[in-house]
Amino acid sequence: MSSVLDLRQFLNSSPTPFHAVQSIKRQLIDKDFKELRESQLWETMRGGKYYVTRGETSIVAWVQGESFPDHGAHIIGAHTDSPCLRIKPSPDVRRSGMHQLGAEVYGGMLLAPWFDRDLSIAGRVTCTDVESRRLSLLIDFERPIVTVPSLAIHLNRDIHKNRTINPQKEVVPILCDLAHQSGSGFHGMLLDQVHHQHPGSNVQAVTDYELSCYDTQGAQQVGINGDYLASARLDNLLSCYAGLHSLLNAETEQSVLLVCNDHEEVGSASAAGAQGPFLRTVLERLCGDAETLARVLERSLLVSVDNAHALHPNYENKHDPEHQPRLNGGPVIKFNANQRYATNSATAATFRQLCTQAGVPVQSIAMRSDMACGSTIGPITSTVLGVDTVDVGAPQLGMHSIRETTGWKDPVLLYRVLRQLFESDKL
Ligand code: ZN
Repeated sequence: MSSVLDLRQFLNSSPTPFHAVQSIKRQLIDKDFKELRESQLWETMRGGKYYVTRGETSIVAWVQGESFPDHGAHIIGAHTDSPCLRIKPSPDVRRSGMHQLGAEVYGGMLLAPWFDRDLSIAGRVTCTDVESRRLSLLIDFERPIVTVPSLAIHLNRDIHKNRTINPQKEVVPILCDLAHQSGSGFHGMLLDQVHHQHPGSNVQAVTDYELSCYDTQGAQQVGINGDYLASARLDNLLSCYAGLHSLLNAETEQSVLLVCNDHEEVGSASAAGAQGPFLRTVLERLCGDAETLARVLERSLLVSVDNAHALHPNYENKHDPEHQPRLNGGPVIKFNANQRYATNSATAATFRQLCTQAGVPVQSIAMRSDMACGSTIGPITSTVLGVDTVDVGAPQLGMHSIRETTGWKDPVLLYRVLRQLFESDKL
């Protein structure tokens, strides 16, 4: 990860968790990582580089160290999903001379920023081909094909007093004018897109899909001095990318592992989520028996990476006065006495030491005592595995907006300390 420019490219080419995992896979393959499949017998070697995916939206990649399993593993965890609008299975809504798409809300998203954006649609479609075989394909319309216009202020004079947004009624993207609509509905449009993107696939029908709306505005450096990076999905593709490049570039004899899970934004309870068995199953297969797994886990450290709330100058009272992470101030260690974060004093001290070794400034956050605290994959993975964990993340503003903001320096600062984690002999 030589610069933030590479990260921008990754953010733009990863509009959904499916595309993020595809982007990660491509970079792993370029560096000679070998794909393992969960359905096959694994024969892994010391010094080998491997990856395995689940559900096309979660991925575990690792370098098996020379001393594995005698030493533990240095693990980085992140998540591939972001709050968004998901297209419903029977989405066609025709009214007021327009064709709209019914959409449901995925995760805890800020609804208001989704209005008046040039949105596209991407994700996975499951199809049948001319010989009735089933296949899954990724699609991305890439161009703006839907929008959710605001109601004019003249028709809603009270909007700045007590705004509520009803997602069922008010967040229904407009696809086209009914006068220009072919009659085949959204499934017909999907079929055309599949033929366009996968011309050799002989697809006859699209049966089902997981498709999301996304903002076509790409990641951008902003601020008069270019101090900030604005993009969709910084939470948490920034962390996936910093972790990935730590894995790709680390010069190490250690066992190092990256796990990127789907479904964090909806609680992580799924086959591919951090609360599911994916990572544990991978580690069990690498260790061979319960005794070895227990020893490996006891000697391992998970650095759970997910963005942290930076101090917002317009809402300073939302932070505890002594815990106010700043943009461009470096990675943030997250603390919560009620185990919403899994950090403890020992794991925090290890992370601070890594920052010192990498020459990276470090910050910390604890919520105001009169406000609820969020959570992430760290405490969940720690609960599932019993592994020592520290929760950290790059500082950002506007979390769960369609467009989020981080410091221009923060992705590289995070990358440097994560790479340090992977290159350290002892923790
Ligand atoms: Zn997150």
